[in-house]
Amino acid sequence: NKQVLLRDYVTGFANESDLVITSTNVDLRVPKGSMTVLVKNLFLSCDPYMRNRMRKPDPLSPATAQSFTPGMPISGLGVSKVIDSGHPDYREGDLLWGAVGWEEYSVITPIPNLHFKIHHTNFPLSYYTGLLGMPGMTAYVGFYEICSPKKGETVFVSAASGAVGQLVGQFAKMMGCYVVGSAGSKEKVDLLRNKFGFDDAFNYKEEHNLVATLKRQVKILLHPQNKIKVIAFSMSIKPIKRFSLFSRCFPQGIDIYFENVGGKMLDAVILNMRPHGRIAACGMISQYNLQNPEGVYGLSLITYKRIRIEGFNCFDYFHKYSEFLEFVVPYVREGKITYVEDVAEGLESAPAALVGLFHGKNVGKQLVVVSRD
Ligand code: NDP
Repeated sequence: NKQVLLRDYVTGFANESDLVITSTNVDLRVPKGSMTVLVKNLFLSCDPYMRNRMRKPDPLSPATAQSFTPGMPISGLGVSKVIDSGHPDYREGDLLWGAVGWEEYSVITPIPNLHFKIHHTNFPLSYYTGLLGMPGMTAYVGFYEICSPKKGETVFVSAASGAVGQLVGQFAKMMGCYVVGSAGSKEKVDLLRNKFGFDDAFNYKEEHNLVATLKRQVKILLHPQNKIKVIAFSMSIKPIKRFSLFSRCFPQGIDIYFENVGGKMLDAVILNMRPHGRIAACGMISQYNLQNPEGVYGLSLITYKRIRIEGFNCFDYFHKYSEFLEFVVPYVREGKITYVEDVAEGLESAPAALVGLFHGKNVGKQLVVVSRD
């Protein structure tokens, strides 16, 4: 049974070498009546919160996820097939998704709202690491429950091409909102504009003043001699030659921010929020590898602008999972939701895939294929 272990607690950026591949024996039967299930792991989900579990436990922040144990296999969410079961609700051959070890085979005790039998099998099973699993639920409850969106509102999504962000953007478009996303490369920005249907997008790594970027409105005119002319813009923008199309972020401000990154972006957003705006604090990946989190200058404006910021954990909402599937499955079936995955092959590739999240190497939902059958 090949496994991925944590070498030791991690400080600073996690490296591939913080995770080690080893092998142990596995007993391919479980005792009858034991309530345990032996599963073969097919797909593993790479999720940003896993970095927080690599930290030394901190008694001062007990709310953060439980740390992994050095020298032991790490765990996360995965899609698995039942090999043997002592549990009355699971039979050999059943498919499920939920918490498993990062290994080829795991022995689990199924827990309601943490393990889910897979009933819709006419989609790629890997979708249960993303679109039809935890990130899909996160996008669903984060957008519809926390953001209280209304038609015509302006919505900004950071880390917008990732597992959660790509879905939030599409839900917001379905709602009739004006949606802009940020991402860390040209390839991702193109995906946002051309595949996921965002109204506009920008590469935050190329912007020197995020506060101004979020206000930006630029119209580009193609001159008869094919010379590009800027005919209107809301701010003075130095590197004009970069723009080759109409670009409009939020000249009138942001109603809803779906927060995935934190740090400087959060500050720039608060300065651009409209009164009574809502921020769904989904995650702050820019902070996960820092020893000392960055301060947020604009926080004082939350009061003045009556902004509602709400943190949420998707696992508080899993009683709504079947409601989510009823909502999303028809859209997926009809091809009305686009979904992009970044697939790493083999358990050996898992450490690189996981740490790659913190350098933006993934394009779309990052997952690892352990076995295809
Ligand atoms: P993604 O698929 O979006 O992958 C992570 C992405 O984050 C990277 O591809 C990268 O994209 C971006 N990123 C990495 N480092 C930085 C940085 N320093 N600054 C800005 N962006 C960075 O991940 P998920 O969609 O799975 O997760 C998105 C967020 O949602 C995370 O914060 C995560 O913790 C949170 N989350 C919260 C849940 C909840 O219940 N509240 C549940 C699930 C996720 P780029 O190239 O664009 O920089």
